[in-house]
Amino acid sequence: MYIVLLGPPGSGKGTQGQILAKRFGLNHLSTGDLFRAILGDEDHPLYPKVQVVKEGKLVSDDVVNLVVEDALNKEEYESGVIFDGYPRTVAQAEALDDMLSSRDRKVDMVIDFDVTEEVLLDRLLGRRVCSSCKGVFHKKQGYDKCPKCGGKLITRDDDNEETIKERFEEYKNKTAPLQQYYKSGDSKYICIMVDDVDKTPDDIQKQIIDKI
Ligand code: ADP
Ligand code: ZN
Repeated sequence: MYIVLLGPPGSGKGTQGQILAKRFGLNHLSTGDLFRAILGDEDHPLYPKVQVVKEGKLVSDDVVNLVVEDALNKEEYESGVIFDGYPRTVAQAEALDDMLSSRDRKVDMVIDFDVTEEVLLDRLLGRRVCSSCKGVFHKKQGYDKCPKCGGKLITRDDDNEETIKERFEEYKNKTAPLQQYYKSGDSKYICIMVDDVDKTPDDIQKQIIDKI
């Protein structure tokens, strides 16, 4: 099964993607995580091309598609994938359709997270991520290290007000048109509404399972 998670920065794609991947035995593929790994490796051939991440701008379609195609060639991804943060432009969605159809596969389901701006800001400005297992937490949970693996919790460089503004702008202009793209396609399309900062990841997971 191939699932695309759609939604603005902070909408919970990462958190829900990790839970869904475990639940259904699928591989979680986060392009954001792949790019952050490249940013930590100066010798990587794509290192110069992913610097734009620091400004909250989208990486160019050809680079993103290359990275995803490379991942899809790995055996572990043959059993199915949850795409988190990909595609983010119509050109990427078309490229993904091509990549999957050449493997006799397709996007089976799209989960679109519709989250109010108030909730998005609360999450992004309070977000702490584990530097080893990539687990996502919120500072209001009060952990001083990762409750899953004991790893160090950090604030992502792009989770600051200025960069967040740029990421929202990129989302509105380039990613939001994907809603129409997928609504008029033949993948199952479900929309998850989140309008309450106190909803927990478990509450939202339940909402998703009910709709699936
Ligand atoms: P968020 O959804 O919170 O913005 P991600 O970890 O998904 O976080 O992405 C972080 C950054 O990585 C994005 O702001 C963008 O610069 C880059 N990025 C991730 N996925 C893509 C993509 N599919 N196309 C272009 N840029 C991407
Ligand atoms: Zn951890």
